[in-house]
Amino acid sequence: MGGLDDLYQQLILDHYRNRRGRGRIDGASASVHENNPVCGDECFLDILVEDGRIADIRADGDGCSISQAAASMLTEAARGRDLDDALTLVEHFRLVMHGDAEPDEDLLGDAVALEGVARYPVRVKCALLSWLALRDCIAEYRETTAMGG
Ligand code: ZN
Repeated sequence: MGGLDDLYQQLILDHYRNRRGRGRIDGASASVHENNPVCGDECFLDILVEDGRIADIRADGDGCSISQAAASMLTEAARGRDLDDALTLVEHFRLVMHGDAEPDEDLLGDAVALEGVARYPVRVKCALLSWLALRDCIAEYRETTAMGG
């Protein structure tokens, strides 16, 4: 039964080496910068919101393979979703990382490969860094648009 673990390991390495959605967005709708001091992971997350949807999402920063692969997988999973849908996605991933939900592959996409991280509490923060950054980014976006009227 090592097959699935091997496949997941390959997927994580692939995202780490070839990061999807890497970089910054000029004129982003909202941006956050977060880090995980325990591991030294850093994440800059930008979203571009159009018609209530995440038209673009980019993650930049550095850190361990788990944190960087998770950021790459996040950009693929979240792009194109409306904001509530994106928050549902983040919450599902958070529950999976805490061992409180079975991973839904249709929702998570490649990020399903990170399910094994739940067994290593020290790495859970690495995996969650960029995903929780998206949650904060959406909150920031809603705050600024509410204030701007
Ligand atoms: Zn890390």
